Amino acid sequence: MELSEPTTILAKCAWCGTEIDPAYVGPCPNCGRSGKIASVGLSASLKVSGSLAWEHRREYLLTNKKLLASVVCITILSPLLGLYVTGFLGLALGVASGLVTLVIGLFAVMKVREITRGSG
Ligand SMILES: [Zn+2]
Repeated sequence: MELSEPTTILAKCAWCGTEIDPAYVGPCPNCGRSGKIASVGLSASLKVSGSLAWEHRREYLLTNKKLLASVVCITILSPLLGLYVTGFLGLALGVASGLVTLVIGLFAVMKVREITRGSG
């Protein structure tokens, strides 16, 4: 923030409006009458220098414990399933459980990205 205040002092004749030096004392050099109006001009400007915009990023992995638990369960149970179900069906079940595990696994762990923006 910058505060600049260039001060200007102006003096005018109260009668004819002729500009007079503020330091001048005496009757108006133009109309000869006495009396002047002094005005003080003050201009202040507020400047916001530079951009103070900020950005905050946070990345983390969000794990769904229930889904992770089911992934573990399927991983452990699927070989056991192979013990009882043999042949083509057992193979199909094994592939199916593998796919289920893969899909659940994708949802079990999610990457979360938080972006917070602001200025100040
Ligand atoms: Zn005057």
